[in-house]
Amino acid sequence: MIKFLDLHKINDRFRDQFHEALNEDLNDSHFILGKSVTKFENEFSDYCGTRYCIGTGNGLDALTLILKGYIALGQLKEGDKVIVPANTFIATILSVIHAGLTPVFAEPDKATYNISAESIKSVFNDDIKAIIVVHLYGQLADVDAISKVIKDKNVLLIEDAAQAHGASCENGRAGNLTNAGAFSFYPSKNLGALGDGGAIVTNDPDLNSVVRKLSNYGSDIKYENQIIGYNSRLDGLQASFLSIKLQSLNKDNERRQEIARMYLSEIKNPKIQLPFYNNSNNHVFYAFVVEVEDRNQLIKYLESNEIGWLIHYPKPPHKQEALKVYSKLKLPITEKIHQRVISLPISPVMTNDEVNRVIEVLNTY
Ligand SMILES: *Cc1c(COP(=O)(O)O)cnc(C)c1O
Repeated sequence: MIKFLDLHKINDRFRDQFHEALNEDLNDSHFILGKSVTKFENEFSDYCGTRYCIGTGNGLDALTLILKGYIALGQLKEGDKVIVPANTFIATILSVIHAGLTPVFAEPDKATYNISAESIKSVFNDDIKAIIVVHLYGQLADVDAISKVIKDKNVLLIEDAAQAHGASCENGRAGNLTNAGAFSFYPSKNLGALGDGGAIVTNDPDLNSVVRKLSNYGSDIKYENQIIGYNSRLDGLQASFLSIKLQSLNKDNERRQEIARMYLSEIKNPKIQLPFYNNSNNHVFYAFVVEVEDRNQLIKYLESNEIGWLIHYPKPPHKQEALKVYSKLKLPITEKIHQRVISLPISPVMTNDEVNRVIEVLNTY
């Protein structure tokens, strides 16, 4: 059986270091916002190339706190419109709603699955005050082209980088391409904790100080609460685990890219549409997503050959019960993608034998 994602094997590589970290954190016993959090925040801002990193409880909170931070700073106000990709994990859209803002859905580009300058232009108007790009499946959205659309306009650009830790282009790494970036350290992500975790990265000192307070009861001095805050902090033990795993992130991403190249050059089946990859570091393959006409048939075939699979995602956000107010929107590209996509196994711990087996099975489908 080839697992879709072998989390046990991924984390087992660090088992001894995790135990050491647990021992150190127990000795220190400063469990909340202790030195392991500061250490990871410094390491991760260095890694992303940003001035600041603020740990949060999870990726959804990282996104929500960025938006609430801009509201607290007076750069956004309740009801303002925010462009989001229609084709994303629901968290992107929930963050907008939780911040009291209004999502405006943009269709993705068919080749990259990301929103593009063109798709943004087609829904843009003067009420739009922010855009959240998602680097979906690990591939950077074309932030350069999107920036040109909003040049000289007072529009914030924010990255949902929850699937793109370490992806980079000439302008820098994911999280450092816009006003602020949000990361998730959910266990299955390219940089995953052993539980929930998230972070905000930014170069904006005002956003840094306001989201730091918001995430910690509106306070940066103990028992002094300056604003109405939340409790969404990166757990200290998770920060220690993440510091250990961050050391391997580049190597892990390179292995994901290597597997993707094998799939791209060796899967040859007209029934399977392979993803677009420009062969650069702008894609870190959180997911290797193919499209097929008859997905159920492929699923049956994969299962009979003991190959794991997953669908990112089976139902678009605007068709979810929770977002039924948006169910009448016409988003044909998004809906078609959701009917056709299926993700193949990809992870830094997959062996070449396993990759070759997946290729062989797909080529005989
Ligand atoms: C995982 C993910 C999130 C949310 O992260 P959590 O840590 O689960 O809250 C947000 N956006 C995208 C695109 C994600 O994949």
